[in-house]
Amino acid sequence: MNKKSLPEKKIYKFLQSINENFASQIKNLPGKPDFLIENKNLILNINGCYWHNHGCVHSRIPEKNTNYWLSVFEKNKSRDYENTKKLKALGYKIINIWECVLNDEKAKARTFKNLELLINGAV
Ligand SMILES: [Zn+2]
Repeated sequence: MNKKSLPEKKIYKFLQSINENFASQIKNLPGKPDFLIENKNLILNINGCYWHNHGCVHSRIPEKNTNYWLSVFEKNKSRDYENTKKLKALGYKIINIWECVLNDEKAKARTFKNLELLINGAV
């Protein structure tokens, strides 16, 4: 198994716990999605709060070189947008999970519960 970030490990464990067939770090799809649930055409992406400028407490914009960082975040956002558009055109559903949600046990439990329902087609 190749190296995974902590948020990735949490998703990995969750998907294993619900017995889904999935692949991770999909290199041949736009934006290299983090996870693909194969038989559902469902993509799960983990968004780092800082790099994707979530707007939560983990995504403060640096006071130094502010304009530079703002342009980096804008580029990341427009790249996310383009990749999402391409993936949708290929027939995938995309779910983005914010990193901060995975760091909060309650929020994480709620998110995983919803994901499980969604993956099982109950929603
Ligand atoms: Zn966040």
